[in-house]
Amino acid sequence: MTHWPSIVVATPAHSGVGALLSYRSESALAPGTLVRVPLGAREVLGIVWADETAPPEGLAPEQARNVAAVLDGLAPLNARWRQLVQFAARYYQRSLGEVALAALPPTLRDLDNTQLARRLKRQAKAAAIGTAPASAADTAPPPSDEQAAALAALAGADRPALLFGATGSGKTEVYLRATERALAADPAAQVLVMVPEINLTPQLEARFRARFEPRHGEGVVVAMHSGMTPPQRLAAWLAAHSGSARIVLGTRLAVFASLPGLRLIVVDEEHDPSYKSQDGARYSARDLAVYRAKLESEALATAAPDAGAGPASAPAGAAGCQVVLGSATPSLESWHAAEQGRYLRLAMPARIGGGALPRLRLVDMNHQPKGATLAPPLLAAMQERIARGEQCLVLLNRRGYAPVLACDACAWKSQCPHCSAFRVFHKLDRTLRCHHCGFTSRVPRACPDCGNLDIAPIGRGTEQIEEQLAGLLVDARRPDGGPARVARMDADTTRLKGSLEAQLAALHSGEVDVLVGTQMIAKGHDFRRITLVASLNADAALFASDYRAPERLFALLMQAGGRAGRDARHSGVSEMWVQTWHPEHPLFAALKTHDYPAFAAEQLAEREMAGMPPHGYQALLRADARTQAAAQAFLNGAAQQAAGLPHRDDVTLYPAVPLTIQRVANVERAQLLVEAASRAALQRFLSAWQPVLLACRTLPEARGLVRFAVDVDPLAI
Ligand code: ADP
Ligand code: ZN
Ligand code: ZN
Repeated sequence: MTHWPSIVVATPAHSGVGALLSYRSESALAPGTLVRVPLGAREVLGIVWADETAPPEGLAPEQARNVAAVLDGLAPLNARWRQLVQFAARYYQRSLGEVALAALPPTLRDLDNTQLARRLKRQAKAAAIGTAPASAADTAPPPSDEQAAALAALAGADRPALLFGATGSGKTEVYLRATERALAADPAAQVLVMVPEINLTPQLEARFRARFEPRHGEGVVVAMHSGMTPPQRLAAWLAAHSGSARIVLGTRLAVFASLPGLRLIVVDEEHDPSYKSQDGARYSARDLAVYRAKLESEALATAAPDAGAGPASAPAGAAGCQVVLGSATPSLESWHAAEQGRYLRLAMPARIGGGALPRLRLVDMNHQPKGATLAPPLLAAMQERIARGEQCLVLLNRRGYAPVLACDACAWKSQCPHCSAFRVFHKLDRTLRCHHCGFTSRVPRACPDCGNLDIAPIGRGTEQIEEQLAGLLVDARRPDGGPARVARMDADTTRLKGSLEAQLAALHSGEVDVLVGTQMIAKGHDFRRITLVASLNADAALFASDYRAPERLFALLMQAGGRAGRDARHSGVSEMWVQTWHPEHPLFAALKTHDYPAFAAEQLAEREMAGMPPHGYQALLRADARTQAAAQAFLNGAAQQAAGLPHRDDVTLYPAVPLTIQRVANVERAQLLVEAASRAALQRFLSAWQPVLLACRTLPEARGLVRFAVDVDPLAI
């Protein structure tokens, strides 16, 4: 009997309904089966979405092409996985084909059956070898009272859990024990643990391996992130899909991993903006994690009819899939959900070892010597720390030596020729580099416009602070009498593979006394001997136009402060220094008492008055074009043509505006804000609007439009 499966193939974002194509097959194909099918002149990877026994209407049987091959070495992608990608495509306004195929490892797209069979064989062999217990076993410490309470509450949780734990409260131990419990409850159970950045995976991976390899063998943990080679990613994906890997540890893309036995999802540092993808489908891995856990729980509840009262009231504890969002400074969205009772809040306010959080020291820059980058009292405090053999962390959110180079005699500045931004002066290799488009050139000897030899840096970046600190601390002495050692860590110093690990090791072994860096150093790492953290340029975020800037600043400062005093011996004396021109700002009052709930309450009240998320819902329509006029014409045209659409009255459409950095790599950028009072209203409108957007691409006044994208729940406006 001939079958007519509809198959999802990779299709560009805006090809409309073309994602599902009908093919012919002489055998029945289960939904989720991976196949290779002809598409135009090529043969591509596809996923069977539905099997039909009659040809679809309008398709003459002789027109249909045959499925070229079935990748029958792989189990079909299960229904929950398919629902997840289908939901993600719809919610984030992308084509199903784009989202579904992008969720698979790239190498899989290019393999034929023979190659795949070879990989699977190699994989099976590796798994067999990998069952030997690893040597570096770790012994689980007895849980603290707070950890025990959180774990007990989690065991009976019937909704997503928000683990609100101070920095150093031992959230990782909770993840480890929750994982242990999930694995023990079911021999097929799998756990997904997500971290916001690749940098944070090695440390966590080591801890999970040490905990689980002795009992479960070497292949039990796999990592999944974009820093892996394509063969590594494929191997990890196959291990997860086959169930041989019980724990997948990864960055946001791991939310789409095929995990047939998924029972627990952990989202560590859930507030981190890195969970939101900034290109392609602009999905939030955190939000999808919550949705995914719900899908899995519902499926499990229906699969076990004797489990009791059904999906709505069945506790997820034993039978479902749990999701734990962890943070010391939750996103306001998650906090709000916990306040409303939609999430279960598990609080761990105390640090392991009972150490205090660092004391806040605000430096009023109005009372410091003019032009001082580092206030004298801060420098003195740093010298004292160094003399005691303690370490300092200095944060500055700007890499390079200086953000601008300017001529003294004329108006020349190091403007990027391709962007509406300045090129940053990097002193080490004497280059001017655009951080937006990458355009790089050598620093000119003289002003390119007037020939003046005095071109000077304006403002400061991490390179310059590193240089200045080395000079300012030249007389500082360590307990052994040696000079203070200053180092820097940012995207520039960690570009080479292994360099981040090497730098972290140097810091841990005490080879560095003062570490200067961008926010990269504020996150996650467990530094033991740091007792002083200083933030040099926090003010920019206090008055930024982005309404989320205070939330981010608060999280960053709490996180950075969390690096200090993690060793209980030092915690009593650890300090967080903040240089500011606005010490009276209310944000600092909450920071001083480490009072995230107070800060969140104040921010949420403001957002409620303004109808901002989570008290309102937003989407951005973004356009890139050759000219700003074309970009805006497309956006405004799309808004005009929305008139009369169903659900049009449920949303507010604002006029198009240029982005803050209006031009990048010679492309002009603009956006239009859409607001609605409910998520459902926003979704309904966006779906209705989609065909209008496609049609507006050809508006005569939008000539020169390069691309457009919808960003649902945008993080920056
Ligand atoms: P967080 O992620 O909440 O900032 P961590 O998980 O890094 O905190 O834990 C802080 C430190 O406390 C780590 O060094 C960890 O090994 C240690 N720790 C966690 N739980 C316990 C415990 N129950 N007993 C002893 N030490 C613990
Ligand atoms: Zn000049
Ligand atoms: Zn540029």
